[in-house]
Amino acid sequence: MALTDSIRTLTGIGPKKAELFAKLGIFTIGDLLRFYPRDYEDRTQLVPIMALEPDKPACFIASVVTTPHTHRIPKPGQRALELTKLTVADHTGRLNLTFFNASYTAERLQKGETYCFYGTLVGDYLGYAMTNPLFEPLDGEGKVTRCICPIYSLTAGLTNKVVTQAVQAALQNHAPTEMLPQGVLDAYHLLDAPTAYQSIHAPKTHEELEEAKRRLIFEEFFLFSAALSIVRTKRTVQEKHPYQNTDMQVFYRSLPFRLTGAQSRVINEILQDFVSCKPMSRLVQGDVGSGKTMVAAAAAYCAAKNGKQVALMAPTEILAKQHYDRLMPLFQPLGVRCALLTGSQKLSEKKEIRQTLADGGFDLIIGTHALLSDTTVFQNLDLVIADEQHRFGVAQRAKLLSKGSSPHLLIMSATPIPRTLALILYGDLDVSVIDELPPGREPVESFLVDERYRTRLNAFIRKQTEENHQTFIVCPAIEESETESLKAAEIWAQTLKQTVFPNLRVALLHGKMKGAEKDAVMQAFAAHKYDILVSTTVIEVGVDVPNATLMVVENADRFGLSQLHQLRGRIGRGGAKSYCILVSDHQNAETRQRLKALCSTTDGFRIAQEDLKLRGPGDFFGARQHGLPTFRVANLATDMTVLQQAQEAAAIAVANNDVPDALLAQVQQLLENGEFAMN
Ligand code: ADP
Ligand code: MG
Repeated sequence: MALTDSIRTLTGIGPKKAELFAKLGIFTIGDLLRFYPRDYEDRTQLVPIMALEPDKPACFIASVVTTPHTHRIPKPGQRALELTKLTVADHTGRLNLTFFNASYTAERLQKGETYCFYGTLVGDYLGYAMTNPLFEPLDGEGKVTRCICPIYSLTAGLTNKVVTQAVQAALQNHAPTEMLPQGVLDAYHLLDAPTAYQSIHAPKTHEELEEAKRRLIFEEFFLFSAALSIVRTKRTVQEKHPYQNTDMQVFYRSLPFRLTGAQSRVINEILQDFVSCKPMSRLVQGDVGSGKTMVAAAAAYCAAKNGKQVALMAPTEILAKQHYDRLMPLFQPLGVRCALLTGSQKLSEKKEIRQTLADGGFDLIIGTHALLSDTTVFQNLDLVIADEQHRFGVAQRAKLLSKGSSPHLLIMSATPIPRTLALILYGDLDVSVIDELPPGREPVESFLVDERYRTRLNAFIRKQTEENHQTFIVCPAIEESETESLKAAEIWAQTLKQTVFPNLRVALLHGKMKGAEKDAVMQAFAAHKYDILVSTTVIEVGVDVPNATLMVVENADRFGLSQLHQLRGRIGRGGAKSYCILVSDHQNAETRQRLKALCSTTDGFRIAQEDLKLRGPGDFFGARQHGLPTFRVANLATDMTVLQQAQEAAAIAVANNDVPDALLAQVQQLLENGEFAMN
C-alpha cells in the first residue's frame, strides 16, 4: 500500500466515513498521517483514589472488589435504561463506579483483577462516584489510560476515537517515507520518519512528543529551504558579463542631497554584484523613509549606463507614478530615458510605450503589474527592481525575471521583516540593510487616545492646518463598516467636511477608486490643494508628502503593528515635527498594550518581531496574498533555531546532491505550483 492510496483502503473506513474525512481535507493515507493532533490530553499521571478531585479527569489503578451488577429500569415506550454498578479500591480508598447503558463493557471487569481507569469524579453530599470511566487491563500498552492522547480537529459525525483509530491503522500499515538524508538525521539528532509520525500521533512521553515535533518542523523547513536553494543554485550557475562602466560620480553629483553612509554602502554592494559574473539576487531592507528609492535609482542608473534595460515594479499605481515623477526629472538630464506604464493608461498610449520599449527606446520602465503582461517585451532587460516587494507573490517576480536572460534582481522592502520570515521568503537572496535615516529627521511622536479626546484632537488638526501643515486620517477599509461602528473612510470624510471642519479642504482616497482618480487626489494633496486627506490604507505604501505632519489612525486596534508603523512612516518626511495619533476605544488591556508599544518605539524591526509574535505570520502582512507558505507544525514566530539548522542542512544537501528523491519530488511540486519558481 502506498501513501497516495485512498483512506478507503483502511479497514473500517467506508464511503460514508471517507466523505467525512474529505471534509477535513483527508483523502489519502499520506493526508491522514500528516493530519497532526491539534492538542493532547495528558493521562500519564496516576493518582491514588484518595487524591482524585471532582471535575478533574484523572487516571488511577484500582482492583475490582464487587462483581458488576446490572439493573434494567424499564422506560415506557423506550429502550430500558441499564445501570451497571460495582466498587473498586486501591490502598487509599474505595470508589463506586456506575456505567449507563454499557453493561457489555462493564461486565468485562472481573472481581479481584486490577485495571487502569480514566474518568471524572463527581460528587454530592451523598458521596463521590464516577460514571462511565474508560478502563483497560494493566498488561500491554495503555491506549486510553497512561498515555498522552491525541485530540484531533473534527467535523460533525466524526469522533476523536474514529480519527485516532484510522490514524493508528494507517501507521500500522504504512511506513511514512523518509524525506531527510541520513547524514542530516544523524547530525541534528532527529527521529526517523516512522518514529516521528508514530510519536506525534501517539506520544508516550512529553519528551518524545517534543522530539517528534522538532523533527517534523525540521522537515517542513528543510523542504522549503531545499526548494529555495535549488532555485538559487539554478540562478547562480548562470554566467553574466560584468558591467564595464560603474563610474557613478555624475549621478551622485546630480542628487539634491548627500547619500547617507548606509545608502552608499548598499549601493556599493550592488555595484559589486554588477561586476561579478553572476546574476544579482539582492534584498534591500530599510525602514520607511530610509531612502530606498535613491538606492534603486543608483542601480538603475548604472545598468542604463551599461546599455541595459531596467524594470522598476511598484505595487500600486500611486507609487509607480510617484517614482516616475521623482526619477524622471533626475534622469532626464543624465540621458536615462524613462517611461511609466500602468493599467489605467489609454490603450493606445500603452501600445506606443510598449513598442518603444521593445525597440530599446527606454532605459527604465516604471510600472505596476502591467509590466507583467505578455504584451510587455524588452529588448535587453537586465535589471528587475521590485519595490515594497511583499505585495508581490514570488511567482510574479519570477514572471518578470523571465522577460530577460537571467537579469539582476533587486528587491526593496520597507517592511522590516523579522529574520525568521526573511529566511523563508528570501532565503534565496543576499540581504543589504539600510540602517540609517537621512539626517535632520525628527522622530515622529506617537500617542494613543480614545473618543474622550475627540474635541482636543479636532483642535490639534486645526492647529496643524493653521501652521500650513497637512493631516492624513486613515480609516479601516470602506466595506468593513456596514456591520460595525467603524469610521468608514467615505462616511467619515463626509462628516468631517460637512460638520467638523466646514472651512477646511477635505479629500477622500480609497482603494475602490479608479487609478486616475486616486492619482488626481493624491497629487492634489501633495500639491497642498487639501488640508486633510481621509483615506483607507491605500496610502500605506510609500507615498511621499513631506508637508504632512499629522497622521490620525481611526479604529487603530483594527490594524497590525507593522501596518501602523508603515502608516506612521508617511509623516516626518519633511523638516517639521510630526505626530501620529492612534484613536481607539478598545478597552482590552492587551490591545492597548500593543498600541502603546508602537507609541514607545520607532524601531521597525522590534515592532515587526512583536507583531509576528502577536498575530502570527499569516496576519503579519495584513493581506492574504503574502506569499508565505503555510506550515503544519512549524511556527514562524518561535521555531527560529530549527529553521536556521534546516536551512544550513538543506544548503549543504543541495550542494552535495544529497536530497532524497521523495523530497525532490515535493520540491518539484512546490516549484511547479509557482510558489518558489524563479526562472
Ligand atoms: P523609502 O525608503 O521609504 O522608500 P524614500 O526613498 O521615499 O524612502 O525617501 C524618503 C525621503 O527621504 C524622500 O523624500 C527622499 O527624497 C529623501 N531622502 C532620501 N535619501 C536622502 C538623503 N541621503 N538625504 C536627505 N534626504 C534623503
Ligand atoms: Mg519607498
